[in-house]
Amino acid sequence: MKNRIKIICFVMILLVIPYKVYGSTIEESKYITHVKQDLLVLMLAYPEQIIDIEKDSNDSIYIIMKNGKKILYDDKKEKTYDQKFFNADLEDTLSDIYPLNMIDKVMDNNYDPGRIRNYGFLGAMYGESKSEIEKNLSSISTYYGTVMFSTVNKASEELKAALNDISNTLQRGARDESYVAPLSGGYNYRHIQDTGLLSAHAYGISIDLNRNDSDYWKWVSKEEGSRRIASYPQAIVEAFENHGFVWGGKWAHFDILHFEYRPEIILKAKYFGDNKQEYLENWYGDIEVNENIEGIINLINKKLGE
Ligand SMILES: [Zn+2]
Repeated sequence: MKNRIKIICFVMILLVIPYKVYGSTIEESKYITHVKQDLLVLMLAYPEQIIDIEKDSNDSIYIIMKNGKKILYDDKKEKTYDQKFFNADLEDTLSDIYPLNMIDKVMDNNYDPGRIRNYGFLGAMYGESKSEIEKNLSSISTYYGTVMFSTVNKASEELKAALNDISNTLQRGARDESYVAPLSGGYNYRHIQDTGLLSAHAYGISIDLNRNDSDYWKWVSKEEGSRRIASYPQAIVEAFENHGFVWGGKWAHFDILHFEYRPEIILKAKYFGDNKQEYLENWYGDIEVNENIEGIINLINKKLGE
């Protein structure tokens, strides 16, 4: 009898060990795929600002910024929503996939693609202080008025192009134009209400269009926010997204008048939005590889292993 139990135990162990090893290898390779995809979209989105990747002896991965600063990619901590919001690593900022299709109501609980920001990264890129940030600003003139915006990483150029597309698409004086103008402002060195965190406006990478009383999650109910989102002209949202901006209307903590320059979020949605690529042997999936993208892929493979 005892022997039978021993044999049964032995067989069970034999079955469990390979399952465990194989299972964790799959998890590990999925994780590495996901890291590589995030690094690729970051390097494509900020080609002049991110100059290298580093993996140290503890397997921590960093991106190296043009100003020499190292930004940790993944702190390996499990976080609640608030912990992410107040203390995001780069991975957290990319964890919610931005929906590129139009929506007609407020997003579900805490789904906030683009609202999670890494302040070390923003500071290294756009400026660590008010005066540093202001050195990078430029006043751009558009059909809908003048806006102060950062010139870093072509943010102001892309804003100008987005507003130009909108003014070319919308009919003069039509109802849709009332969603755009008068503009409510670009650069503004301010904090997000009740948080102590700097607003994206403080870096000169966000614009608020014409303000409506239903635009902000703290002002109105979810139902009222949903009605405003459902009425919002798709052409405006698409023009911004085409130029690397996310729309605050696609956040559970909705901020419907707000557009923010976050090209990495748009690129991740475009290239890796459906998660299919996770299961392919080729971690970069079916994106069209040109010389520039190939260079980045090679660098990532070299630093993290093929
Ligand atoms: Zn705003």
